[in-house]
Amino acid sequence: MIEKTVAELSAAMTSGDISSVELTQSYLDRIHKANDSLNAFITVCDDTALEQARVADKSRAQGNQNPLLGIPLAHKDIFCTTGIKTTCGSKMLHNFISPYNATVVDKFNQAGVVTLGKTNMDEFAMGSSNETSFFGPVRNPWDLEKVPGGSSGGSAAAVAADLCAMATGTDTGGSIRQPAAFCGVTGFKPSYGRVSRWGMIAFASSLDQAGPICKSAEDAALMMNVMAGIDLKDSTSADREVEDYTATLSDSVKGLRIGIPKQHFTEGLSADVEKSIREALREYEAAGAILKEINLPNSHLSVPAYYVVAPAEASANLSRFDGVRYGHRCDNPLDLEDMYKRSRSEGFGDEVKRRILIGTYALSAGFYDAYYRKAQKIRRLIKNDFDEAFKEVDVIAGPTSPHTAFGIGAKTDPVTMYLEDIYTIAVNLAGLPGISIPAGFSNDLPIGLHIVGPDFGESKVLNAAHQFQLFTDWHKAKPAAKGGI
Ligand code: GLN
Repeated sequence: MIEKTVAELSAAMTSGDISSVELTQSYLDRIHKANDSLNAFITVCDDTALEQARVADKSRAQGNQNPLLGIPLAHKDIFCTTGIKTTCGSKMLHNFISPYNATVVDKFNQAGVVTLGKTNMDEFAMGSSNETSFFGPVRNPWDLEKVPGGSSGGSAAAVAADLCAMATGTDTGGSIRQPAAFCGVTGFKPSYGRVSRWGMIAFASSLDQAGPICKSAEDAALMMNVMAGIDLKDSTSADREVEDYTATLSDSVKGLRIGIPKQHFTEGLSADVEKSIREALREYEAAGAILKEINLPNSHLSVPAYYVVAPAEASANLSRFDGVRYGHRCDNPLDLEDMYKRSRSEGFGDEVKRRILIGTYALSAGFYDAYYRKAQKIRRLIKNDFDEAFKEVDVIAGPTSPHTAFGIGAKTDPVTMYLEDIYTIAVNLAGLPGISIPAGFSNDLPIGLHIVGPDFGESKVLNAAHQFQLFTDWHKAKPAAKGGI
């Protein structure tokens, strides 16, 4: 049962084939068996999960028909949860318990989901491999010597290895989509503002967005029906009607205009990935979609612009971790300044410190115009490129990552790591929705197809992804069947 999608599990519970308590116990057993090798979970909530499952079973018996009722989920450890530690993958917050829930957590609780625990992640969501976590790297279920991607690598590995039915993630530059690609699962980043950021520990506030990591586009739509919506506690959440994201899943892709950015098929893209992506695009064509080459002329500027904007915002957001109110505090501080200095130098890891330094420098007087303002102008150019493209096409498709999962410890140079998100980062800079879905293998490692939509075009993206999953089976492949865990 644990390998099934949320939609299938929901049907199995409705027909009485399985209870939420039985299902939750199966996932907990699986976590206790596999987590030692995967390190996907930082915290597992055996008792409260079973209690929530009992409540869900009772509620179902009384006629509650919420499709997510009793489905076991894992939250990325960036979402604040009352009663469960929220570490953000950092020593700084290694024992932090939030006094409130993130809005996303509240919404899932109201839908009656079971929270199995909190998943491992790159420290403060900074990374592409999960190697910056204070709690150690997550391993890829398809090959334990490979990274799962990052920063939501714990969530992606947990879904891929059936440690949970679905998980939450966050994506600032690619952190939902790239790990989804590396682990062979479905990961969706909604438009900026579609999902509340309240209670989600901030990395780069103008880019961060929460989204689902799961086994199918249909499951992503079911999760989005819970997650989306305006939140008065988040002034950047959008006051737009929430669609039923499942309503248009079955629309045909006949006549769908798919833009293929020529910049995403140049040097740097591995031959195997290119072959699978071209094959996937042919599948769409066979189903009646129309492929059209498009131009995103400023896409080469997206990584440099991001690495000014994101560290600048991070340096401001992370100033709150000073050892005073919460988080790590050094032993025996001599005075206030000593406490700030030592608490922060002991609490943060190297990558986080690097970003704080870059960001503080970029925002400092005299440099603001040269860096931050310039990066914001580039951001506008990137958005304009997408706006132009979407005059001619309905969605844009290409590879999620230039290659498959790489070895743990293989990338030591920060800039090489930053280039990991070469195809995903522009989408965050422009605030658009994007999904990664499984589309093939190279040497038994999954390949992700990236589909991007216009502003608030989540339904279009989910529909295109779901249709692909109707005519292909890549998303059904399991690591166990290929020698993985
Ligand atoms: N890999 C990118 C970074 O390190 C993106 C991370 C993310 O999306 N949270 O900043």
